[in-house]
Amino acid sequence: MSPSTLTGVAGLIVEEDLVTVRERARIEDVVASYVTLRNAGGGALTGLCPFHDEKTPSFRVTPSRGYFYCFGCNSGGDVIGFVQKINNVNFTEAVEFLADRVGVHLRYTESGGARAEPGVRMRILEANRLAAEFYADHLTKPDAVIGRQFLAERGFDRDAAELFSVGFAPAADVNCCSTCAAESSPTPNWSRPAWPAKVAGTSSNPG
Ligand SMILES: [Zn+2]
Repeated sequence: MSPSTLTGVAGLIVEEDLVTVRERARIEDVVASYVTLRNAGGGALTGLCPFHDEKTPSFRVTPSRGYFYCFGCNSGGDVIGFVQKINNVNFTEAVEFLADRVGVHLRYTESGGARAEPGVRMRILEANRLAAEFYADHLTKPDAVIGRQFLAERGFDRDAAELFSVGFAPAADVNCCSTCAAESSPTPNWSRPAWPAKVAGTSSNPG
């Protein structure tokens, strides 16, 4: 007898593994990789919705129920649904992404077909996300002062830069891949170097 399965769009994942992924992948942790969440009281978290443009948070995550919901655009679902929507991937790809993240080795039924590289698309997307974080984070570093001045000249403050994920490519000796691999939480920290409030007419170039 074949094990119980749940059919995704592109494959058959053993249901037992699916249950394990759902249990281990905390929705608040997964969402927090994309959205800055604040405590909203009553055990809920809130933040700016990643699925529609808004200035005041109407996006809520309820960890105890494993659900997210946006009162602005009515997006909602569980942790798998969130990954599907934020990365524009199908059900199976979202489960594979989460399984990889929480260390679950997925099993597939024979009818699911040969899957030589499960989750490869999600790995690429995740690598892209980490690279974007790396460059955005580097905009806060001392050697990116020229980049911050450039943006300030054009009316981009740090909020705008963060909103549009503006980054700075450092000198070639700083390697994006090795840094991304080494840093598990490359959250941009804007408090380190000062954002130029006003751009001086002269540049202080340290030889
Ligand atoms: Zn929304």
